[in-house]
Amino acid sequence: MTTTTLVDVRPLRSALQGDVVTPEDEGWDEARQAWNLTVDQRPAAVVLPESAEDVRDTLRFAYEVGLRVAPQGTGHGAAALGDLADTILLKTERLRGVEIDPEARTARVAAGAIWIEVVEAAAEHGLAALAGSSPDVGVVGYTLGGGLSWLARKHGIGANQVTAVELVTADGRLVRADAETNADLFWAVRGGGGNFGVVTALEFNLFPITEVYAGILWFPIDRAAEILNEWRAWTDGQPEEMTSVGRLLQFPSIPEIPEPVRGQSFVVVQAIFLGDEADGAALLAPLRALGPVLDTVTTTPITELSRLHMDPEGPAPGAGDGGMLADVDAELVDTLVDLAVGSPLLSVEIRHLGGAVARARPEHGAVSHFEAPFLMYAVGIAPTPGRTTAPASRTRAWSEVSSGSAPTCSSAL
Ligand SMILES: Cc1cc2nc3c(=O)[nH]c(=O)nc-3n(C[C@H](O)[C@H](O)[C@H](O)COP(=O)(O)OP(=O)(O)OC[C@H]3O[C@@H](n4cnc5c(N)ncnc54)[C@H](O)[C@@H]3O)c2cc1C
Repeated sequence: MTTTTLVDVRPLRSALQGDVVTPEDEGWDEARQAWNLTVDQRPAAVVLPESAEDVRDTLRFAYEVGLRVAPQGTGHGAAALGDLADTILLKTERLRGVEIDPEARTARVAAGAIWIEVVEAAAEHGLAALAGSSPDVGVVGYTLGGGLSWLARKHGIGANQVTAVELVTADGRLVRADAETNADLFWAVRGGGGNFGVVTALEFNLFPITEVYAGILWFPIDRAAEILNEWRAWTDGQPEEMTSVGRLLQFPSIPEIPEPVRGQSFVVVQAIFLGDEADGAALLAPLRALGPVLDTVTTTPITELSRLHMDPEGPAPGAGDGGMLADVDAELVDTLVDLAVGSPLLSVEIRHLGGAVARARPEHGAVSHFEAPFLMYAVGIAPTPGRTTAPASRTRAWSEVSSGSAPTCSSAL
């Protein structure tokens, strides 16, 4: 274990409106906890700012005493941070607030906003954001890393819809960046994220969408290879309005999993269609003809997409990995099914990308598109914090499968 750097935080504490928590303080374990419970974060201190000025003062203090600063919204991506011994973990969870401008069709969010807050606020005005699969992923971390939503094949990645960023740069200046002001910085943060400063507010476009035709077709797990191959063939020629996922789900027999599916396994196709029911049903007909044991695809409010993927809400112990795929063929499907079925992996999914996800425009930022037509991601539950062995070894094997065929690679999820 690395030794945490000891630092006198009294000057910072007296300067801030928010809190500074060190290993000596009561509440240390709660303060240093990430959403991902498998990650044991041991920074030099945790700062919980209440304002953009608190963020600025923290960066200036860190610069003076020679510490690094790691911004964190929720800690969904905490596994990537590594050793934090000489780092102030700057948690933005108290910087909340979502403002919707219905006329301009934009949202402005504070650094700690999570997606469900934006989805619900936008829906009140008949608008939708390019939110991801999970209700409690942070808007800033997700968007600055790219941001793949259920609407991405039609509307592109989340980073491309950002219109302005407010951030504190490494030298402690609170600046605004948009297409006209600090344009280089604006380009860099849309993909480069936390490497260029700590974002205090983000502004982005919304879309006039209130309903989608969406849901899940469920099949028995012993049809895994057949259904994944049929789904893969079906994705060819689908319009950009149709997004889908081929997925293996193996629910453990634990109380957190709802009774009807607890301890059971399935191969499923999740489908989201931006259009009316008749057109969506016509497109889905070949998959329905395969005879799902359960079919939940129906016209649904856009807000329901936040829970379609059944991502856990609140802190959870997950070990996951994935990558981009140049294609999905029968050999790859066989390998995936062999690796996954009966393993401790809870979910193994292949998302269909392409469409607007693969298109770059000059006005986009550093991460503008993903060329690969498919993305694969596998995740398992690690029951005890710090114990990731079983799922991690499988997800590593998973990455090796994907790396053989990936033209681009990204830890998008
Ligand atoms: C259950 C689950 C579901 C997911 N679903 C999707 C999905 O559908 N689509 C998708 O694209 N991704 C998805 N992801 C991946 C997710 O978008 C990334 O892990 C993202 O980085 C999480 O952002 P966060 O702020 O919640 O996490 P954090 O761990 O808090 O932040 C991740 C990183 O973002 C940067 N960051 C955060 N806040 C700031 C800030 N204020 N200023 C500067 N940089 C900052 C930092 O580099 C930080 O290390 C999912 C992840 C999980 C665990």
